[in-house]
Amino acid sequence: MSVDKQILEKISTYSEYAIHLQRGLVAHPAVCPENGGEGELAKAEWLEGELNKLKFDEIKRYDAPHAKAKGGVRPNIVARYKGTKSDRTFWIMTHLDVVPPGERSLWNTDPYQLHIDGNKLYGRGTEDNHQGLVASLLCVRALMECGVRMPFDVALLFNADEETGSEFGAHFLAEKHPDVFGKDDMFIVPDGGAADASLVEIAEKSIWWQKIRTQGKQCHASMPHLGRNAFRAASEFVVKLGSLYKTFKAKDKLFDPPMSTFEPTKKEANVPNVNTIPGEDVFFMDSRILPQFEVRDVEKTIQKIAAGIERKFKVKIHAEVQQKALAAPPTSAEAPVVQALKKAVRTVYGKDAKAMGIGGGTVAAVFRRAGFPAACWSKLDETAHQPNEYCIIDNMIGDAKVYGHIFLQE
Ligand SMILES: [Zn+2]
Repeated sequence: MSVDKQILEKISTYSEYAIHLQRGLVAHPAVCPENGGEGELAKAEWLEGELNKLKFDEIKRYDAPHAKAKGGVRPNIVARYKGTKSDRTFWIMTHLDVVPPGERSLWNTDPYQLHIDGNKLYGRGTEDNHQGLVASLLCVRALMECGVRMPFDVALLFNADEETGSEFGAHFLAEKHPDVFGKDDMFIVPDGGAADASLVEIAEKSIWWQKIRTQGKQCHASMPHLGRNAFRAASEFVVKLGSLYKTFKAKDKLFDPPMSTFEPTKKEANVPNVNTIPGEDVFFMDSRILPQFEVRDVEKTIQKIAAGIERKFKVKIHAEVQQKALAAPPTSAEAPVVQALKKAVRTVYGKDAKAMGIGGGTVAAVFRRAGFPAACWSKLDETAHQPNEYCIIDNMIGDAKVYGHIFLQE
């Protein structure tokens, strides 16, 4: 039997091992302190125990200090399996943290106890991001047991803090330990994808959330001339903001939808009664901006529109940033990691995957910004962050085979 075949068949025999890993991971809730949890330490220590049972050449912890977390740290782990050459590293990057279970009554089983139902494994984190995490381990274990070394290092990176901005995870590593990464390295980030395996994410829009407060003057509704109606001013402002679609109208077919989006979303309540002119109005904007535009140019345009509204209605408008994540330069659809991934998906899942951009917000951006090619891919049902989150066992096995195929092609 060819080595390729041996590796892929080996992976097929790992279902029980995959379930064992999922059970341990689910039983260690790693919720970020910002979401009311203790962080990743207990889970990281449990995982280190598992990693030590395998033949990694090097296992290193990179602890980001964080007083609010258990043990005062947010642990990141790098497990490296050396190649016949080590001048570049192929990374599979996943995250240890999970989001809270949310409303418990919506769960049919304990979110922190693995529940198996046929081909599905239920529990918080099973899909986001244990599926990718476990699949990466299955693949590397198969390489080890077949005694195969690649002509490059394979490294698994288990990050902290993906769910609340990656400050103590990917950002911490990229900024404080840049020496961990080599200039020719490439990344697969199995933290997103589609149920039919067809989505390879290579680009993101910038995300920009704003809270917009319009300050007028409250008065009795029968005497509107004595006040300044903040609701009316803000409403005209919202309508005028629609012009952003024209000002920044460029299209990029990589994305769906192919253009930038500028949407007024949440609205805070104003006065409780009908006969008062509201003196204050608060609404929120969610903007997703194509990487070709600078967010600050959009900001300037909004300020200009706001100034017009302020003059016309004699109100004051303040904008406050709720979230701003600037898009990284996209990974090229022609990048070897993307091409190899598409080929592997075709072989394993019989599917033609498409390289696309998304609305924004994966940790891959951290590495793209640092100049590395990074492809975000997985075959998943998108149950992340929901009650009764699950992962399909066959997807874990299949995704591990896809990684195996990529390595063997490289
Ligand atoms: Zn995730």
